[in-house]
Amino acid sequence: MADLSNPAQIKRYIEKGLRSLVDPEPTKEERALAFAFFSHQCAYCGNSADHLDHLLAESKRGANHVSNRAPACSDCNAKQKRDLDWRDFLQLKCGAESALLEIRRCKIEQWIRDRGGLHALPDETLRLLEDGHRQCAMEYDAARTLLKNAGRIVPREL
Ligand SMILES: [Zn+2]
Repeated sequence: MADLSNPAQIKRYIEKGLRSLVDPEPTKEERALAFAFFSHQCAYCGNSADHLDHLLAESKRGANHVSNRAPACSDCNAKQKRDLDWRDFLQLKCGAESALLEIRRCKIEQWIRDRGGLHALPDETLRLLEDGHRQCAMEYDAARTLLKNAGRIVPREL
């Protein structure tokens, strides 16, 4: 749940809400399929996976679509990969020359191929999304300013 006193977090939720209209999160079935395909292991390090990472980071226009998602452990997902390209990160985890790198890279590529390739938002949709978010954020700021200067709740006579 959003921290309702944190404007930046509210705006991120607005952005997520708008984005879900054109790029929804994977369904429960798609999530289950991804975890089964990777045998419930982190696609990067092989540890037990409990997150669904973005192969191409959201900050680099990576979609929420299941073709761009792979199971990851919490260390790889939250602390280590960040905005790195998945191929570069995989190499960091496995070492440049290892057979493991080849096996894991092929597995991820097969996952992407089987989903019809990495999906992405068309530029025009992305532009509309950014405009919509900017507009909502401005309206939110304006309403917030007005309300900060308005009267607070007061007791009323019964
Ligand atoms: Zn991992």
